[in-house]
Amino acid sequence: MMVIDVLTLFPEMFKGPFEYSIIKKARDKGLVEINLVNIRDFSTDKHKKVDDYPYGGGPGMVLKPEPLFNAVEHLKGNKFIKQKTIFMTPQGKLLNQDIVRELSKLEHIIIVCGHYEGVDERVRQCIIDEEISIGDYVLTGGELPAMVLIDAVARMIPGVVGHKEGVYEESFITGLLEYPQYTRPRNFRGMEVPEVLLSGDHKKIREWRLKQALKRTYERRPDLLEDRKLRDEEVKILGTLKNEGRSARS
Ligand code: SAM
Repeated sequence: MMVIDVLTLFPEMFKGPFEYSIIKKARDKGLVEINLVNIRDFSTDKHKKVDDYPYGGGPGMVLKPEPLFNAVEHLKGNKFIKQKTIFMTPQGKLLNQDIVRELSKLEHIIIVCGHYEGVDERVRQCIIDEEISIGDYVLTGGELPAMVLIDAVARMIPGVVGHKEGVYEESFITGLLEYPQYTRPRNFRGMEVPEVLLSGDHKKIREWRLKQALKRTYERRPDLLEDRKLRDEEVKILGTLKNEGRSARS
């Protein structure tokens, strides 16, 4: 069971995404608990103020340190051994499946969603363990990035995704992009499902899928192959793919 506390100024934004499908089932089964915590509730200011002008001038507002310190200190507790406080920010480590896998082993995650111009730097220095970005672009707030992170982490928790193999064959998990998938009908508008998938020959199907996964990765994300320790079988298939590419060009 993992507990995820999300610190946000806009808890209502999270209403839809976690109330459907796989994440909803995971919550119902008690595999993951997602708590939405309003940062404003931890403001000691009599007007419940949570932001202020930046020192030194400039546009926008900055989230004040007091409410965030108060909230994280309140939520941390000693109940969990494996816990982390994460700040969503475009300045963070780019999210990938390795980070997701590591985070899915934790018992407790506190996610801080920034807004406006971001948060007071002292929050980042003192109460944040890790900073994560979901891509090299700037969004208006950390809420959508937090939803992306929670979805990706939750589906790696054992029992969340139905079929055991479900997550293990997927893109990035094997280090390759996934092979093409087909379902019924066998012929759709003249487009046939590859014969081998209908053969029932599991060895051939495995070989075809590996070749397709390597082909797709080679064509779309060759960088993934550079980091991969290739098996003999994969070196051979890649050699064939490269030759096929060369003869198609000549
Ligand atoms: N001024 C900040 C900067 O340049 O780093 C950007 C602030 S952004 C407008 C407001 C908030 O949205 C950030 O504090 C962060 O929580 C969130 N955010 C925006 N883009 C993000 C991204 N690519 N990944 C993760 N969080 C992001």
